[in-house]
Amino acid sequence: MIGAGAFGRSGGKAGVGLASAHMAASTPRWPSPHLLGDADRGHLFVVDGSRLYDIDPDLFTRLERTADASAADAILRTIGLEARPYVDDAPPAALPVHALSLAVAQKCNLGCVYCYAEQGSFGGAAKNMDLCTALAAVDLLLAEAQPGGKASLAFLGGEPLVNRSVLQEATRYAARQATRRGVAIGFAITTNGTLLTAADGDFFEEYGFAVTVSLDGPQALHDRLRPYKGGGGSFERILGNLRPLLARTRRVPIMARVTVTPDNLALRNTLDGFIAEGFDSVGFSPLLSAPSGRGELVG
Ligand code: SF4
Repeated sequence: MIGAGAFGRSGGKAGVGLASAHMAASTPRWPSPHLLGDADRGHLFVVDGSRLYDIDPDLFTRLERTADASAADAILRTIGLEARPYVDDAPPAALPVHALSLAVAQKCNLGCVYCYAEQGSFGGAAKNMDLCTALAAVDLLLAEAQPGGKASLAFLGGEPLVNRSVLQEATRYAARQATRRGVAIGFAITTNGTLLTAADGDFFEEYGFAVTVSLDGPQALHDRLRPYKGGGGSFERILGNLRPLLARTRRVPIMARVTVTPDNLALRNTLDGFIAEGFDSVGFSPLLSAPSGRGELVG
């Protein structure tokens, strides 16, 4: 939200400049430690272990003036950061599976300008996941779960509601199997919202889904970024589908997820608008890379 506020205040191309300036200022000087901020309010980010430290102005300045990696490492040793790496090249021991995301549909009805998945097909033939595959995946998820443990099953696409029957069958099966094993299972879906029905809302409520709907801002902006494949805007349909769900008393959280591009930088407006509509939360995700190159937030 700090970044979102900054983008919102700057707006338009100035916002892109601000993002670029932040990225330029934190460009790595050496492979491991990165400096962030300035001498008045400096931070040191150590890649190994994703460790972030506040550092005093003297140390910041010494590191900033250091030309090569070995000299930087020598300074880090003086402050105790030469410790055994958190992450090394040894392959990890087999870990039990706790969470699974099922891309139940390799297809989509939208044609978002920046789509990471080539309009839902991931560059292949459009198709749905079959039920056997989905149930086998659920078995894999629950195979190593211990009684009293937790598991999480998420549905993605393309657009997952294109394959509603498999999504529902896999959910029912997972809930039954989890109950049998004494495992608490949580469900989630990320959807474009165009196919959402009142019955879907009942289903999500029954199984306690966390629902994330991709929306990119006010109608005109959203429609420019997330049109149907045929070219028409999708905003009106999505909000029409969602309003009955948002208005009802529910235990499931509904989140709007905004992909941030140079076209929709008035994030405060977007946040206020979606909260006023009844969303429980709004997430902002900057678009740093798109296969088409369109909508990227850098440059
Ligand atoms: S909703 Fe948009 S971004 Fe998501 S798969 Fe479909 S076209 Fe791509």
